[in-house]
Amino acid sequence: MKILANDGISASGVKALEAEGFEVILDKVQQDNLVDFINKEKVTGVLVRSATTVRQNVIDSCPSLKLIGRGGVGMDNIDVAYARDKGLTVINTPGASSQSVAELVMGHLFSVSRFLYASYKNMENEEFAKLKKSYAKGVELRGKTIGIIGFGRIGQSLASYALGAGMKVVAIDQYTETATIALNIGDKQLDIHITPTNDLSSVISELDYISLHVPKQADGSAVIQMKEFEMMKKGVRIVNAARGGVVNETDLKEAISKGIVAAAALDVFENEPNPDPSLTSHVQIACTPHIGAATVEAQDRIGTELADQIIKALIN
Ligand code: NAD
Repeated sequence: MKILANDGISASGVKALEAEGFEVILDKVQQDNLVDFINKEKVTGVLVRSATTVRQNVIDSCPSLKLIGRGGVGMDNIDVAYARDKGLTVINTPGASSQSVAELVMGHLFSVSRFLYASYKNMENEEFAKLKKSYAKGVELRGKTIGIIGFGRIGQSLASYALGAGMKVVAIDQYTETATIALNIGDKQLDIHITPTNDLSSVISELDYISLHVPKQADGSAVIQMKEFEMMKKGVRIVNAARGGVVNETDLKEAISKGIVAAAALDVFENEPNPDPSLTSHVQIACTPHIGAATVEAQDRIGTELADQIIKALIN
C-alpha cells in the first residue's frame, strides 16, 4: 500500500511504515495535481500537516483513498466529518507537539519583553548606542501574570513553563475542570492545581501577558477583538500561536497604536502563507512563520505516532 506524505514525515515514521511493507512517497505534490497523483499512484493514505488541504473534491475523486492523516492538531484543512461519512479513517497526533508550541511561546514571551526580535533585525544597520537606548525598558517575566486562553494540551504545557519561570498563571477555558500541572525539577515532581475560569472579562484586566491556545472557532470568530483589547491592562503583551484570526489582526494593530498592547508575537496569520506585510514589518510585533510544532523532537513523535495509527487502521 502507498502512503503519500505530502507535507513530509520524519525518518522514524518512514522506517516504521516501511517495516510493515508500506511504500512511503515523499514527493511534494502541488494542491492542483493532488487528485491526479493519488489516482495515478493508487495511493491508500495521504498524510498532511497544515500546507495541503483535503476537501470533499479530493475525497470524492480518489476511490483508492482509505485514510487521511494530519501530523499535528488542528484539522481545519481536512473535511473530517465528510471523509468519515464516506468511510475513510481520519487520524491526527494531538499531543505530539504541545511541548514544542509551549517552548516557542516562552521564546516569544522573553523576546517581546526584551525587544530581542527587534534587536536581531536592527543590530546590523542601526547605531549601537541608539538601539541600547531604545531597548532600555525591558521587563521581566518573573512575578507577572499570564492569562492562558484555551487550557487544553498546549495551554497546560505552557503553564508548566510559565510557572517554572515564576509567573502567576490564570487559565481561561470553556471547561472549568481543575487541571494538574506537573513541574519536574530534577528527580522531584511538584503538582500545581489550576482551575480555569470561563469568564475572560472577569480576569482580563489583571493580565500582564496573554497567550491563546484555542482552536479556530467554529464560526470563524475572533476570541480577542477590540471589545477585549479595551478591557486589557495598558502595556499587556500578547502571543498568538493558535490559529490566524483568533486574534483580530486589524484590532491588534489598533490596540498597539492606542498604547494598550506594548508588543505582540504572532506565529499564525489570517492570510497564510502571505501574511499582511503591515504585521510582519511592524516594530512592535514579533513574527515567526507558523513554526510552533517545528522541532526535531515533535516531528519524530508525530511520525512514529502516525505510523502506529496507520498500521493499526490499515493492517491490524
Ligand atoms: P486542545 O483541544 O487540547 O485545547 C484547546 C482548548 O481550547 C480546549 O480546552 C477548549 O475547551 C478551549 N477553547 C476553545 N474555544 C475557546 C474559547 N473561545 N475560549 C476559551 N477556551 C476555548 O488543543 P491543543 O492541542 O492545546 O491545541 C490548541 C490549538 O493550537 C490547536 O487547535 C491549533 O489551532 C493550535 N496549534 C498551533 C500550532 C503552531 O504551529 N503554532 C501547533 C499545534 C497546534
